[in-house]
Amino acid sequence: MVLQRLPLPIAKLGDIEPLGLGVWAWCTRCKLERRVTIGAVLSVRSFAGAMFRCSTCKARSRPVVSRLLWA
Ligand SMILES: [Zn+2]
Repeated sequence: MVLQRLPLPIAKLGDIEPLGLGVWAWCTRCKLERRVTIGAVLSVRSFAGAMFRCSTCKARSRPVVSRLLWA
């Protein structure tokens, strides 16, 4: 069996919303998930390894990509 590398359609955070997906940040301390607004500054950042900081407790938050349930 030969594995082939395929390019992912998401390289930058700005590539997510055009696919009908959204970014949320999951705080491991608060156990809350909040929507992240991808503006001009975040849109050019790499998706791989992206981390966010919780606005409530300042803990590191992990990004979650999910389908938009409302638009
Ligand atoms: Zn938090």
